[in-house]
Amino acid sequence: MEFPYWIIILLFTASVVFVFSPWRKLVYRLMARSEKPLFRIAYTLYTRTRLGYMYYKRQMKRAREHYPSGHSSSQPMEFNGLKIIPVSVLSDNYSYLVIDTASSVAVVVDPADPQKVQAVLEDEKVRLEAILCTHKHWDHSGGNKELRRLHSSCRVYGNAADNIPGLTHPLSHKDSITVGRMNFRALFTPGHTVGHMIYLLDGQTVGAPASLFSGDLVFLSGCGRMFEGNPSTMLSSLDIVASLSDNTLLWPGHEYAEDNLLFAAEVEPCNTVRENKYQWVLQQRSQKLCTSPSTIGEERQYNPFLRSHSAELHLALGLQQFQDEDWTQFRARVLEELRKRKDLYNRR
Ligand SMILES: [Zn+2]
Repeated sequence: MEFPYWIIILLFTASVVFVFSPWRKLVYRLMARSEKPLFRIAYTLYTRTRLGYMYYKRQMKRAREHYPSGHSSSQPMEFNGLKIIPVSVLSDNYSYLVIDTASSVAVVVDPADPQKVQAVLEDEKVRLEAILCTHKHWDHSGGNKELRRLHSSCRVYGNAADNIPGLTHPLSHKDSITVGRMNFRALFTPGHTVGHMIYLLDGQTVGAPASLFSGDLVFLSGCGRMFEGNPSTMLSSLDIVASLSDNTLLWPGHEYAEDNLLFAAEVEPCNTVRENKYQWVLQQRSQKLCTSPSTIGEERQYNPFLRSHSAELHLALGLQQFQDEDWTQFRARVLEELRKRKDLYNRR
C-alpha cells in the first residue's frame, strides 16, 4: 500500500490548533513523542475506519485521471491454454487476471480498481469465478465488493485474520483453490498484515512454470513493510518464498522495481546480477513497461530481503552474528536492520 501521509499532516495540523487551546499541556505531551505513534494512529485510521476507504476512493479517482490507460503497459503471458494478464491499477499497483482459455473462466488477484478489471474481463469475454485477495489494504481489496455485485457467483478468498471486504471463503495455510484447469495453493505469509496470503499457481496442468502472486510480501528486489508483524514472522514468510523452485514466476502487487534495485545497490554494491537486472529495468521503465514477472531464481540472487544470509550484506549493515545467537535469529536481526534502512530510504 501507499501510505496516506495526508492523515499524518491532518493530525499534525489538528495538534497545532490544539496548542492554542486549554488542552495545550496534553497536546504538548502527545507531540513530544516521535513520529511512530502518529504513524500507528494513521495506520489504524486507514485500516479500521471509513477514512481509509475514502482515501482509497480518492487515490483511485486521481489515478484514473492521471493514468487513463494505466501507469504501465504490459503484455499478457500465454501458456498452453493459460493466460496471465497484469492489469495496471491505481498509481503503481497490479491486479492479475488469470484465465483458463479453454473454459473461458477467470480468477483475479487483488482487484483494486473494479472498473479496470471489469473492462479486461469484458475484452477477454471470460466469466469471473474467484477473487484471490492477498490482504486487507484497500489498494488490494478495494474492488472485491463491486466485482461481487457484478458477478454474484464469484467467490472471494483470503485469510479471515485480515478484515477482507466481501470475504466468502476463508483460507488456511496450504489450502487449494481450483477454478477450471487452474489450481492455486494459498500460503499464509503474515508480517505485512496479520492475515497476508500469497497464491501459488501450479503450471503443471498446462506444462508451464509455477506462478507466485505475492501481494505486498515480496516485490522485484524488495519486500513489504512490516506493519503487523515482527522481523521473525516476516522472515518465516520470506523463507517460504525463497524455498520455491527457481523457475517460479513472481507477480508482485506493485511496480517498485527501479527504486528497489537502487536500494539493493546500497547494501550489496558488488552484486553483478543486480546491476544487470537494473539496466534491464531502466530500459523497461523508460517505456513505462511492466517489469513483472521476474523469477524466484533471479530474486534469490539480488533481492536483499531474500538474502539475509549474505556476508556482503552483513558487512554493509555492520552486523555480526553473536556467539550465542541462533542463525535464524541473526537473519531476523539482519532483516530488521535492512527494513529500517529501506524505510529511511523510501517508504515503500
Ligand atoms: Zn499492503
